[in-house]
Amino acid sequence: MGLLDGLEKLGIKSIDTSNMFEDPKAKEEVKKPELKQAAKIEYNEEDYIFEKKMECPVCDSPLVSLTVKTGKARLLRMDKDLRPIFEGIEPIKYEPVVCKCCGYSVMGRYFAPLTPSQKKAVLEGIGSSFKGKDDIGSTIGYQQALEHITLCLASAICKRAKASEKAYICLKGGWLCRSYKESLNPEDEDYEIVCEELSKKEKEFLDNAYEGFVQARQSEGYPMAGMDEKTIDYMLAVMALERGELEVSSKLIAGILQSPSSTPRIKDKARELKEEIVEQIKKKKS
Ligand SMILES: [Zn+2]
Repeated sequence: MGLLDGLEKLGIKSIDTSNMFEDPKAKEEVKKPELKQAAKIEYNEEDYIFEKKMECPVCDSPLVSLTVKTGKARLLRMDKDLRPIFEGIEPIKYEPVVCKCCGYSVMGRYFAPLTPSQKKAVLEGIGSSFKGKDDIGSTIGYQQALEHITLCLASAICKRAKASEKAYICLKGGWLCRSYKESLNPEDEDYEIVCEELSKKEKEFLDNAYEGFVQARQSEGYPMAGMDEKTIDYMLAVMALERGELEVSSKLIAGILQSPSSTPRIKDKARELKEEIVEQIKKKKS
């Protein structure tokens, strides 16, 4: 005998009445994950991009580049090293402009005509062995984007680009690896292995970005890769701390805090980082 006996005739079966008067708060807690999933919005990456028709600066072939619409993606937050995280799209995937005929690739912000000797160097270094690429689809995946960034770096080396351009490619390459990792499903079978590979790759890219920006800082003017002096210095301070170079990091931070040209925003960030450096120094001593 039970409270709901008789309902089975109406087809209603197995309703558990044992918790009928349970605390509704407890029930809410159980339901929470479900609610969260229901609220999850699916973003369509295609809404954020458009096809831009261009011409390859090396082989003059027409090329179509998928480009992120300006101002469309909403900035969610920034990592400590200033990597921006956007809602619904990873814009870094769309930064490389790739020629599928000769392989010349360049980050969008550096797209410009090349000198005859640069063209020659790219054709010799990449074009001669490049097998050609298929058309890109309607969106770009992480693996493909990583390949494109690597092509950008190879092209930059061939055309003897400035240190800042190569550093910028490496910075974005490192950030792309981090973003790639975040996109993976922890329940995937090879999750750990892929994450480890991407972490290694990220470090390799960022080490090179660091080296490149340090060099560029001594030989080039500002803005550098679209960033002002204090932004570059702050980013280098974060990287130096990451590498355990506390003295370098401290010096860069002191420079930002003492300079009258630093904005309040970058000074705030520098103060936060300074606290971290002090912590690390304490840890080292103890
Ligand atoms: Zn080309």
